[in-house]
Amino acid sequence: MRRLWPRHVRSRMTLWYVLVLGFLLLVYAGGASLYLFYSLREQLDNDLSEDVERVEGLLESTPDGMVALDSVHHGEDEANMQRFVEVWSAEGALLYRSPTLEGGALGGQPRSSAESNTQRSPSTVRLADGTRVRMATSIHTVDGRRVFLRVAHSEQGLWQELEEFSSVLLVALPLALVLAGFGGFALARKALAPIDAMAHQAERISAERLSERLPIENPEDELGHLARAFNATLARLEAAFDQLRRFTADASHELRTPLTAIRSVGEVALQAPKSASEYRDVIGSMLEETDRLTRLVDSLLTLSRSDAGHIQVQRTDISLLGLTQEASSLVEVLAEEKQQRISVEGDPTLIVSGDRLILRQALVNLIDNAIKYSPAKAEILVRVAAGKDSQLIVEVVDQGPGVRQEDQSRIFDRFYRVDSARSREWGGAGLGLAIARWAVEIHGGQITVQSVEGQGSTFRVALPATALKQERT
Ligand code: ADP
Repeated sequence: MRRLWPRHVRSRMTLWYVLVLGFLLLVYAGGASLYLFYSLREQLDNDLSEDVERVEGLLESTPDGMVALDSVHHGEDEANMQRFVEVWSAEGALLYRSPTLEGGALGGQPRSSAESNTQRSPSTVRLADGTRVRMATSIHTVDGRRVFLRVAHSEQGLWQELEEFSSVLLVALPLALVLAGFGGFALARKALAPIDAMAHQAERISAERLSERLPIENPEDELGHLARAFNATLARLEAAFDQLRRFTADASHELRTPLTAIRSVGEVALQAPKSASEYRDVIGSMLEETDRLTRLVDSLLTLSRSDAGHIQVQRTDISLLGLTQEASSLVEVLAEEKQQRISVEGDPTLIVSGDRLILRQALVNLIDNAIKYSPAKAEILVRVAAGKDSQLIVEVVDQGPGVRQEDQSRIFDRFYRVDSARSREWGGAGLGLAIARWAVEIHGGQITVQSVEGQGSTFRVALPATALKQERT
């Protein structure tokens, strides 16, 4: 069955169309035939009851006690009209039978007294030779005698007319279906042609040609809708592909730098024999580069896992001040190296519902940047407070060089560094703020920067007090 079912939509549509139309035409033909049958029969019945009256007028007694029809040519008339007449006495004796019956019975003796008392509506009976006739019975008085009169008309004309009508319909029906099939197929092909064209166009769009789009002829109709939806998907794919490509290129570039450094340090060291302390220095700087590599790989891993949605956010209620102090103590040694002072202050009662490690990472990145970009002996202030609309705020204020207005929206992008040479000196790959932004945003918060160049910067994290964004969990 499955194999017989047409493969193409246009053939399927045509088949359905023809099937439905065929069914409707059959119902229509059936209904029309039925209607014709009933109206022809009604006409036949009307003629019959008129004829019954006519025959009643013609009845007369004969001297031998029988009944005859007073018509000169009644025999001929009856044959022409296909009229059959029988007259019975009230006692059940046959008084008259028209010659057209050729001796066969019409309705036979009146059977019951009920029949003899009521005027019966016409009914269909079969004669001895199988002819179907419409028969009416009436009670009449001929010269003071009650008689039963049966008059019948042949149904032959009715059936013949019905047969002709049905055969016309039966011939016309397949013809109409064939024509409708051709018409339907042509229409379906025309309607589906743009889809074919779209499919061909879509086939040509590959990963390398993601910038191509499907043509939209009429944006309002269904096909336009389909093309728009497809194009929107393509646009998203293209953006995702671009991002992936950029990410891969940037990541490779960032990975290559420490690797090159390790290699050149090693090569130089191998050129000539060195003292033990010189070798120790070489190994030390190699380890430093390895540290940088490890940090970079960790950041890349965090970002790619966050992209894939693989990071589960483990919600707990955390004291925001406690968490900030913890983050600051993790990077304190770096500040000590630069003789900087980090002061953490704020309300210890503020509770945030979130993932401890992810939020701590965001704060560590911010405080780490403040340390990196502030000059030696600078002061770094971290403030925890309640903000508007039941938000919780953490601000990291530093005395660094600040961020130029035009860079402020871009520093949160991956691999973006304002001054790459200088940033690299302190080990940044431009991923710290990207990770901080992701961490804050999956908690439903926002991260912003306020800064005037040369006057330090304030990084502000606003978190909802309890609500945790369900995204990417
Ligand atoms: P990196 O790891 O290079 O620091 P980030 O994503 O943390 O990367 O920061 C991106 C860029 O934003 C840095 O290159 C730096 O120029 C700028 N930036 C970040 N924090 C500060 C800050 N506290 N003061 C001045 N500039 C900053």
